[in-house]
Amino acid sequence: MIQSQLIFGVGCFFALFAVPLQADELLVRDGQYIHLTTDIASTEEAEILVASFDAAIPQWAEFWNLDKESLTDFKVEACVIRNKANFNQSGLIPATVPNFPFGYAIGNQVWVLAQQSEYYTRHLLLHEGIHSLAYHLFKGAGPTWFQEGTAELLATHHGAGRDIKINRIPLSREDAPYWGRFKRMGQSTESGEVPSFNAVLGYQPNLTGDVATYSWSWAACMILSSYPEYRSAFITAAERGQETGPAFNRELQSSLGKQWPILAARWRIACHDLDYGFDWQREQVKLSAKDPLWNGDDLQIQVRPDQGWQSCGVRIPRGAKLRISAEGKITLADQPKAWISQPQGITFQYHRGRPLGQLQFCLLPNANDPQAKRIEPLKTQGVVDQPLVNVSEYSWLLFRINDECGKRADNRGSYQVSIKRAR
Ligand SMILES: [Zn+2]
Repeated sequence: MIQSQLIFGVGCFFALFAVPLQADELLVRDGQYIHLTTDIASTEEAEILVASFDAAIPQWAEFWNLDKESLTDFKVEACVIRNKANFNQSGLIPATVPNFPFGYAIGNQVWVLAQQSEYYTRHLLLHEGIHSLAYHLFKGAGPTWFQEGTAELLATHHGAGRDIKINRIPLSREDAPYWGRFKRMGQSTESGEVPSFNAVLGYQPNLTGDVATYSWSWAACMILSSYPEYRSAFITAAERGQETGPAFNRELQSSLGKQWPILAARWRIACHDLDYGFDWQREQVKLSAKDPLWNGDDLQIQVRPDQGWQSCGVRIPRGAKLRISAEGKITLADQPKAWISQPQGITFQYHRGRPLGQLQFCLLPNANDPQAKRIEPLKTQGVVDQPLVNVSEYSWLLFRINDECGKRADNRGSYQVSIKRAR
């Protein structure tokens, strides 16, 4: 049914503070791309919502490689709602709209329940607005993962009002109260339920507002839009928004061709580390299906602290035994003071239970099971603690220096790492 292509839902778990209000007391603000009706108490917040939406639109157009003219006749009718009864009574929520837990969009109409933080309310308004935009531009938003993932991608932001910057991962929990995406992803990680990339692509539509579905769909859209080699296939896929069945994914997979197993491997490693401040520029992992098999000769690599996982450039065969050693000094941060570290790390400064500055390695398997619903956790170890490595399956050998997520920009220096065949 065409209707199903026009309707997008997003859930809500947070209770609202009901404030009795007459329909004629609703606040109305008109922007370039949004006509807002709301019962939120703060006029300032309402005006910031309108300014944020108007400032986001040209950025969305740029993201999809569109010129501004394609959006001249786009405008949403938005309701941001504290007390749903007022909106029901005044006919602002038609009876055809199902009970939605967070927000809802049909064509150019969107409804959003006000949340306990301005950030999260703004996020949901942008999220629903992106559904409207997808319908306006592409006559639909594709299957669930693409529909919700692109909405999350382009709703996540820094700042507010005219200065809003879309498609930015919040730097801290304090920047995005109640938004909770990383909290939910962390729960999946702890319980060993991080979905495989293919499992995310197979998400089915639901209206329960499951935050895990939105979060992992967002992660899939982040990885596809952040790596330059996937980006154009991802952007082009939006034009097939009317397609909501498996053909959408098949087309994407065929346009990425042989890169698919590399994508699955990168997914596996990125899912471990996604958190506030995650920096996709520094966390891209150089991997290729053409990486040669290690011939057993000594390898030397420089591992930099301002990048995430770094491959030693070869694939290590099953059954190989390695001895890894490292030396050198790096500087982590400058403020409040410069921390100098060696490969064992700074043993009185910890991140995720390991010393800051510690040289770590992991083995990332070359193969992945396309039928697997979940990803197997990867084992990260300190090189100084575990210099001898037995390789049980064909794998990339990756190194990085332990640091807090999003804090790599001011790191300097490198460790010199040596890999030899163990006798
Ligand atoms: Zn949605």
